[in-house]
Order: sequence, then structure tokens, then C-alpha cells
Amino acid sequence: MKCAQCPVMCGSDRKLNKGACGSDGIKIAKYYLHPFEELPISFKNGSGCIFFCGCSLKCVFCQNFEVSRNTRGKYITVEMLAEIFRKLEGEGAENINLVNPTHYKDDICAALEIYRPNIPIVYNTHGYERIKELEKIDAYIDIYLPDLKFTDALLASRYTARGDYAEYALPAIKFMAEKPLKMREDGKMLSGCIVRHLVLPLAAYDSVNIVKFISALPKSVYFSLMGQYTPFGEIENYKELQRGITSREYNKVISAVREYNLKNVFVQDLNSAQQIYIPEWDY
Ligand code: SF4
Repeated sequence: MKCAQCPVMCGSDRKLNKGACGSDGIKIAKYYLHPFEELPISFKNGSGCIFFCGCSLKCVFCQNFEVSRNTRGKYITVEMLAEIFRKLEGEGAENINLVNPTHYKDDICAALEIYRPNIPIVYNTHGYERIKELEKIDAYIDIYLPDLKFTDALLASRYTARGDYAEYALPAIKFMAEKPLKMREDGKMLSGCIVRHLVLPLAAYDSVNIVKFISALPKSVYFSLMGQYTPFGEIENYKELQRGITSREYNKVISAVREYNLKNVFVQDLNSAQQIYIPEWDY
């Protein structure tokens, strides 16, 4: 079958060949209870994260580049994936958090047909998505957790393999923003959408564009502003990426959050910019 699960639509038959995302069969790098997602996601016991390998976006600054670009990991089957859902749920996971799932949607749906956990399913994506494909998985997903990386095509062309990132990500996030918000009384998220944005050095102007975009989404959408950018990945040729962001850059974005009157906001402390956020891979 020709794959069209992401906007690249490279048409690879993944049973025979790898696609432009570097993926063929289901490959994962790790699964565990992750304590450092946003509080309504990690909540008390941690989010049951499963890290999928491969990626069509290929951001040069990717913190998980060993997994996303080099596809370091282990092959599993659909049945094994269903068992991982069951295991994480049994360990007390607050939810099942599908990290970088875009190019495995069909397999994930098949695994959820085998075992549907009784905890929320989180779709944790870079945002580069086709709405037609999201519609296929939407009924299985409780919480969307997309990144919104850039609106500026020049930034997307410079830092990723997909200069058309925003053409797909902006409508995809509008689609995800329609997921109804359900928060339990104690603050755990059961359903909804949290849009994440990582501020990059020399790109605060585009972060302000993103804040403006978020302000036009339904008010139920949460915005998670991240200052954790840490120089990492394949950035030798990108001098501007070889430093963290400054407090001046971050404050400019925080001012925009106030100016556009965003209410449901998580703001990460600038001091979080450490490699503690990069997990050690199991495989
Ligand atoms: S998910 Fe991978 S194989 Fe499928 S269209 Fe995208 S790049 Fe090609």
C-alpha cells in the first residue's frame, strides 16, 4: 500500500521500503512513565510515553535526533504495541502518550483496536499533518499535544526538510483545537488540546506570530510556551542555533501572550534549558 500518512505523500510501500520519514515497520526507542510533561498530562504518576522512531520533518535542532533522524530503536509488531499500552496502563500511567506518531497512524489504530486502554490517549505531534489522515485517528484520540514550530516559511526551509510546514501545520492545529476540553476537578486533563511552542534563538518575531495565531483558536485550547531550547542535534552550520535563547527574546514572547490576552497558558522557566529533558534511549 502506498503511504500517504504525512504531507510528504512519498508513496512508499512500507512493507518493502523505507519512506522519506526513514520508517518501514513499527520502531520505537523507549516507553516509560514520563514526569516532565505539562502538569495536567504528567499529573501524579507520569505520562505513559512511547517514543516512535523516524520523522519526515528532520529538524536540524531536534533534541531526539538519534531516534527521529537516525531511527535508533527496536522493531515491534502491532500486537506488541497493544501490550505496551496495557503495560503502561498497569503501571499507573495517567495516559498513553504517542510521541511522534504521525507516520504510524495506521499501526496505532490497529493496536488500539486490539486493546483500548481506559485512560486518555495523547497524540503528541510535530504538527506537520494531513487533516484527512487525522480524521482517521481522531476517534481514538482524547488529547492533542501538537508543536507549532514556525509560521515563517524561511525558518521552516532553513531548519527542516519541509519548507511547507506551516501550510499543513496551521490548518491541522485548527482541526486539533476543536477537541472538546474536559478537565477533571483535580486538574487532570481528560480531553482537549495543548499547543506547544519552543522559542528559537533569533526567531522571537515568529513566536509572536504564533501567539497571535493561538489567540484566534477556541478559548478552550491551552498554550505551552517553552524556553528549553538547548543547542543540540546537527547544528554545526547554524551559528545562531549554537546558544540558548536570551531572557530578552523570551520576554518579548511573554509580552505577546499578555497582549493577546491568552488565558490558558503554561510558561516554562528559562532555567529548564537543560539536557535533563532528553531521555536515555532504551534500544
Ligand atoms: S509517513 Fe513516511 S512513508 Fe508515509 S508518506 Fe510520510 S514520509 Fe512517506
